[in-house]
Amino acid sequence: MGSVKNQPKITVGIMDREAEISGCLNGHFYGEGYGPVSNRFSAKAMKGEIILFDEARHEICHSPFIRLTGQEDSILGLHQQPMRSGQAFTLFHVTIGSQFHWEKREDQTFQGDLMLCPREDGTIAAINEIPLEDYLKSVISSEMSPKSPMDFLKAHAILSRSWLLAAIDRKKKMEGESTPPPKITNNEIIRWYDREDHDLFDICADDHCQRYQGITKIVSRQAEEAVEETFGMAITFQDKICDARYSKACGGITEEFDTAWDDKRIPYLESISDASLSHPLIRSEKEASRWILSNPEAYCNTKNEQLLEKILTHSDLKTKNFFRWTIEYSREELEEILRKKTGSDFGTLQKIVPLRRGPSGRISRLKIVGSKKSIVVGKELEIRRWLSRSHLYSSAFVVMIEGDRFIFNGAGWGHGIGLCQIGAAVMATKGFSTEKILKHYFRGVEIKKIY
Ligand SMILES: [Zn+2]
Ligand SMILES: [Zn+2]
Repeated sequence: MGSVKNQPKITVGIMDREAEISGCLNGHFYGEGYGPVSNRFSAKAMKGEIILFDEARHEICHSPFIRLTGQEDSILGLHQQPMRSGQAFTLFHVTIGSQFHWEKREDQTFQGDLMLCPREDGTIAAINEIPLEDYLKSVISSEMSPKSPMDFLKAHAILSRSWLLAAIDRKKKMEGESTPPPKITNNEIIRWYDREDHDLFDICADDHCQRYQGITKIVSRQAEEAVEETFGMAITFQDKICDARYSKACGGITEEFDTAWDDKRIPYLESISDASLSHPLIRSEKEASRWILSNPEAYCNTKNEQLLEKILTHSDLKTKNFFRWTIEYSREELEEILRKKTGSDFGTLQKIVPLRRGPSGRISRLKIVGSKKSIVVGKELEIRRWLSRSHLYSSAFVVMIEGDRFIFNGAGWGHGIGLCQIGAAVMATKGFSTEKILKHYFRGVEIKKIY
């Protein structure tokens, strides 16, 4: 450790692979090599360069890389909410919740620098460079309701900071190396999505990494406080910053790393029972059914709407019954979804057979058997993608076939690895401290100030 002496800056991909990007520079911005710019702009990539246009669609400049930096403005230099220094830029039509059931497009406003990069295929990426602690304040505000209990917000600030520092570190180490390609044969597709997908920036602004909406939503005083009070603190294991993962609700037992990603074991991401009592881990199909079809005691097993309103943001509140859920398809409907998602015709869908489950009941290898084709699919996110028009809440499910109906009963929301957000918030309302919460989900770790 000790590689991080001062607060680092991070680069966040806000929009990527777009034909054109448009937005507005609120206040005075400066472009290196061509001077001040402000107001509405648009940008396009052409022959490996970015062309920047003004409001009247006159070219301002063209360059292989454009950086726009907000200029300090003495009149607006006061710390105001939400545009604290008066320098912020808005990007129009930013996608959030990409491919999930809550996907939509919104205009979003950011502080820090705006960088525009061309891609080889003629598209363009818009990247925001911002000091890490400022980024965190926005993430905590975007992902969490400001009414969440303080110890939960603080636990999340430490968690997000750790995850981020570990991600930046890992990206540095990976530079020049290529990720192993997904395992795809005629009858088996095993793939997962991790942050190595990002070449031009450290992380993206969507649920794939951490939901970041700049200062569009007013950064809450509570989120600011949680970040300031934990300034520079991270979760460490054997003196290394932890790759701290989290998801919405584990379903009662947390999952292991290799159910979602690489085939490796991470000691502080071992499966735990998310309850005051210890639930046995799932080891067989019979145990999986019993677990998923039951309603066990767990921190994330809450239907208390008042509490959930405090924890979840508005868009997440639409998701009800995340602890145990049911979804039903007709055979035809599911065949059509599979055809659409995979591009293959399975023929008449016959059965869906779990081949491997993790300790939370989440399936990481699943066999889909049709009259024309059978395919083994993994890992958990790919399974969730295949079996829903958007995504299943989780891959912890059992399938019952009744005549022409396929009934999925499932548990949990998200991959279930690491901290369970709803469980952690419930723990905080029960009076558990920030440290107790983090050490419940991440075993054997320490909380240290690293800058
Ligand atoms: Zn990402
Ligand atoms: Zn949980």
